[in-house]
Amino acid sequence: MKIAILSRNPKLYSTQRLVQAAEQRGHSVRVLDVLRCYMNITSHHPTIHYRGQTLDDFDAVIPRIGASVTFYGTAVLRQFEMMGVFPLNESVAVTRSRDKLRSLQLLARKGVGLPVTGFAHNPDDIQDLLSEVGGAPLVIKLLEGTQGIGVVLAETHKAAESVIQAFMGLNANIMVQEFISEAGGSDIRCFVIGDKVVAAMRRQAKEGEFRSNLHRGGQASPIRLTPEERSTAVRAARIMGLNVCGVDLLRSNHGPVVMEVNSSPGLRGIEQTSGKDIAGMIIEFIEKRIKALENTTDRSRTRGKG
Ligand code: ADP
Ligand code: MG
Repeated sequence: MKIAILSRNPKLYSTQRLVQAAEQRGHSVRVLDVLRCYMNITSHHPTIHYRGQTLDDFDAVIPRIGASVTFYGTAVLRQFEMMGVFPLNESVAVTRSRDKLRSLQLLARKGVGLPVTGFAHNPDDIQDLLSEVGGAPLVIKLLEGTQGIGVVLAETHKAAESVIQAFMGLNANIMVQEFISEAGGSDIRCFVIGDKVVAAMRRQAKEGEFRSNLHRGGQASPIRLTPEERSTAVRAARIMGLNVCGVDLLRSNHGPVVMEVNSSPGLRGIEQTSGKDIAGMIIEFIEKRIKALENTTDRSRTRGKG
């Protein structure tokens, strides 16, 4: 197979591991800087170009699109889809997962456990919103934050009020969420491939911090999931339409709750804590999917999806 990896930085651990795993399994692989891909969307033969070359013979594309380039990155990914290239995750699913509010709404509709969450636009509605989600302490989040930046714990009603006012004053979109204090500063990353959780880790926030992100100094360790946690993670991935993702759960008094679903989950932490070849499993998944597509129908089936 010929595989394209959309990544801005070929030196990242995750990118390097995917390249290695693909080559080990006998595939040719190319890392493309998504911002250097340009395309002709009008021709009968949709094309993608890269530094003067036409890219036209890839079998699969692995999007590793950073949050800051979601718009352009998903447009390039969609163009690969228009050309009939198999995307590890589809562009619509990536776009969906980048908006925390939209993601939680979709999960809620299917009955997946979530922290009580609210959303409002007008400062006049803050008081009512605060009581609707159960009052302080509360977590206030920017809808498009990542790596823990843009997530604030407001311990008192007054603090919540002023943080929300400040964000609204900056025209930032935020959601207001029940603080799951019983999670004790830890969350669970479930790494899903297809319809399985292939590995999981617990991330514990450093002393004095409630955000467990590894980028914020959190520590990862292996964890055994309960069957309910496993099925919650797999259902969340399916509802989001993601083949490969990281589903982040909190252990709450009312069972596992989904915090977010990440469509480009990092490989370093999960490979190191689980000791598993996750990159290899991802490539294997692509091999199986492409084989299944070739067996059932011609590849044009994947063409033309929007
Ligand atoms: P980001 O996309 O920036 O990682 P998250 O929603 O994952 O944002 O929040 C970052 C971290 O903050 C989580 O990993 C978790 O440890 C903590 N956290 C987020 N929401 C809650 C909550 N409702 N209750 C308790 N802790 C939370
Ligand atoms: Mg997170």
